Amino acid sequence: MLPQDLHIHTVFSTGDSSVVPEQTLELIAAVGHAEITGISDHIEYLSGSIFDSYAAALKEQGFRLGAEIVNKNDVDYALELPLEYRVFHCYDDQKCYKAAQRMVDSGTPLIIAHPMAVGTNLSRIPPECIVEINNRYVWRNDWDSFYTPWMDRFNFIFSSDAHQPNWLNQNVARYVGAQLGIRETLLFGERKKKSVA
Ligand SMILES: [Zn+2]
Ligand SMILES: [Zn+2]
Repeated sequence: MLPQDLHIHTVFSTGDSSVVPEQTLELIAAVGHAEITGISDHIEYLSGSIFDSYAAALKEQGFRLGAEIVNKNDVDYALELPLEYRVFHCYDDQKCYKAAQRMVDSGTPLIIAHPMAVGTNLSRIPPECIVEINNRYVWRNDWDSFYTPWMDRFNFIFSSDAHQPNWLNQNVARYVGAQLGIRETLLFGERKKKSVA
């Protein structure tokens, strides 16, 4: 079992065409691939009462409550929500770096999603950010030269970024992490137990 996986999508990401109908919270719980599991559906599909249903459904399964923010214009909304962590597409844009700083200042952990794939300049993000090694994307570019300069500046995590049940693994991300000598940071201690009410 993996120690932690905090970047997972489910059928709550209704507009993401990579998500399949079988990618439900129940199936992820049944597969049980990680000790600490967090769900990070796209925040643009979690407005209003949908967010409440999402939060309740995650709690029911003992999953950590996250969300992925793709558009910097959704940061205000993300800051209003009682998320346990945020996952952010930090494009190489001054406004995104400012948004990253605001989210870090809120005191809630901020994961910088697949920085190579969205062109994040790691010299411009706050050192409190947790930088992701993403199983879906990391193999596509020169990860060695991208990550090596930053080994001492950041903490790192591995993520599946699963949109489908067979993506619930971190094999490539962990290979890369081992090559780079990364020790992953665990954001949460114990797995929350499913309540037996
Ligand atoms: Zn993403
Ligand atoms: Zn994602």
